[in-house]
Amino acid sequence: MGLGDGLTIRVPGDKSITQRALILGAMAHGESRIGAAPRGADPLATANALRALGVPIHGLDGPATAPIRIEGPGPRRWRQPRSSVDLHNSGTGARLLAGALAAQPLSVVLRGDESLSRRPMRRIAEPLRRMGATVEHLEGGGVLPMRVAGGALREIRHDGRVASAQVKSAILLAATGAGVPVEVREPRRSRDHGERMLEAMGVQLREGWQDGAWSVRIDAPPGRLAPLDMDVPGDFSSASFLLAWAVLAGQTPRLTIRGVGLNPTRTGFLAVLKRMGVEAEAAERGDAGGEPYGDLLVAAPERGLRAVAVGGEEVTGMIDEVPILAVLAARAEGVTRITGARELRVKESDRLAALAVNLRRIGVRVKELPDGLEIDGTSRALAGRVECFRDHRIAMAFGVLGAAPGCDIPVDDPGVADVSFPGFWRLLERVGDEARGRDRSARSTKKEQSRCPVVAIDGSAGAGKSTTAAAVAARLGFRHLDSGAIYRAVTLALLDSASGAGEVESISTAELEALGIDVHWGDAGMEVRIRGERAREEDLRAHRVTAAVSRVSAVPAVRAHLLELQRSAAEGPGLVAEGRDMGTVVFPEAALKVYLDADPRERARRRILQQGGAEPDAAEVEAEVARLRARDARDSTRVVAPLLKAADAQRLDTTDLDPETQIERIVQLVARALKQARSPLPAP
Ligand code: C5P
Repeated sequence: MGLGDGLTIRVPGDKSITQRALILGAMAHGESRIGAAPRGADPLATANALRALGVPIHGLDGPATAPIRIEGPGPRRWRQPRSSVDLHNSGTGARLLAGALAAQPLSVVLRGDESLSRRPMRRIAEPLRRMGATVEHLEGGGVLPMRVAGGALREIRHDGRVASAQVKSAILLAATGAGVPVEVREPRRSRDHGERMLEAMGVQLREGWQDGAWSVRIDAPPGRLAPLDMDVPGDFSSASFLLAWAVLAGQTPRLTIRGVGLNPTRTGFLAVLKRMGVEAEAAERGDAGGEPYGDLLVAAPERGLRAVAVGGEEVTGMIDEVPILAVLAARAEGVTRITGARELRVKESDRLAALAVNLRRIGVRVKELPDGLEIDGTSRALAGRVECFRDHRIAMAFGVLGAAPGCDIPVDDPGVADVSFPGFWRLLERVGDEARGRDRSARSTKKEQSRCPVVAIDGSAGAGKSTTAAAVAARLGFRHLDSGAIYRAVTLALLDSASGAGEVESISTAELEALGIDVHWGDAGMEVRIRGERAREEDLRAHRVTAAVSRVSAVPAVRAHLLELQRSAAEGPGLVAEGRDMGTVVFPEAALKVYLDADPRERARRRILQQGGAEPDAAEVEAEVARLRARDARDSTRVVAPLLKAADAQRLDTTDLDPETQIERIVQLVARALKQARSPLPAP
């Protein structure tokens, strides 16, 4: 096809493979090395759960380019945790851990966030019970929270009613951990990441069709699992959003996505694209942890897209791609019929309902079936605001459609894409720019904003960020974004609301919107407003706000809600953005990233002086150190956007620096950074 001369990009690592590698690494004997592992919310939740179970895991806080190392103690050597283990939103984490725990002489309560707590767990609990584990749904309903008490297990043959890779992996993990034979049968062949990884670690499996079911058997599990040494391939499901973008962008050049996982149980979407008239190819380049990977190549079809029928076995191999297929179908000629996708009703959202509602909202005719959708493609202009239902794939699917010609489709919750694809929106914008030849005159105001140079200043409490950031901004004539003040405003508004901050973990988008947080830029700089009223500095810094803010800011919905507000500050000659995740999440493309740090005692002293206190004595300093440490610990261990130094940030220890020297250093760094040209696309 000769596509090599178009755009070339990479996508983040596969989170299903990453989570399996973390759990299997924790069951192995010896040290596993997992390179290119994405640090999204789900893998972090699983890794933190394993840490709570006593498994040492290193390198998590590093950049995605640094490997994660797991000191595997062996399959039945995890430790009883002190409290319940929270998997946040990770369904894979919860189900696979349940399997691995069934083989261990522990009693562990697994729980999750509100959305995970609605997802079915009976399908895991039932076979694990038959193997001999005790599994209880503590609040009934066949969902989390769920106690798993394991130990000696017996051999079973499991006949699953639905094809589910998570159920299959959980049972295989339980049997491998306990050292008992097992057979798992499913009506259709689900993804086989677990099987491939187990094989790469020395487990022999027998697989094949038998009496109308797909059967996977382990006859003689080995006593030890060999540790893993692998780089996680790019996520095919993430890549498919970009494939679809290239298809919809019309006049675009060809697109190559390098290093993508090409496991045949995942790549069903490619065959569907071809039936729609798209030239798409996969070129295999190697193998990692038993997984084939390589490059994906795609070109927009010369004649329009054709409608397709997709159902049965084929849907299983592209279940996560149904949302992106649905938006492609909106632009295809004819009626696309998708069936056999009932499973989508119990994903992060009811995806069939979410797709139907949103497609209708933007002007597409669609019929919702019990197990699928019928979508009547159209070439009319499509416009309307899309509701994401906290579902990353819904956000990204409509984001891709919105980037196509003739579409104006804002999504209500873009930040939710971070769950599986941090940097998605930036990448979408960049490939769009690149495809249009970076035509300045065609660039919208929004694109202009992204040309505003950003200086990201992150660091722990009391490291001197606010004073320094304000002074640097003043020196350069840039805006100063104090993101901490925005989180404080949310906290203040919540504390003053009828429901208080007690239930903030389950706050909805509508409730967040009702708080009415906004930022106004005037002559005096940034002003945070709560329902149109300026929030007063003394209220934002009140003790009750400081005491609650790190809990409020750890809630993923709160962070996602504030993302666009913070990004919209990047306008005018430049922006100095100060906070905890400016360089890592909010402005990952900042021209300069600085990470300020200082000795805890010095930070405590500065804090006290800043709050108007006199020069503190040793005891006062120690008390403040304890408070700062507690806040830093909460900020650094939260699942979403934890406080950490971006890989490309410059660390500046300010313990012995006076304010003028600090400011001078940063101003010089900015001058140098602004001279350097931005690279156009992620390196191939
Ligand atoms: O910087 P300041 O102390 O005002 O921030 C208050 C709190 O807001 C921090 O402790 C942190 O929990 C939260 N915050 C955050 N992300 C930011 C800025 C602040 O989580 N970008």
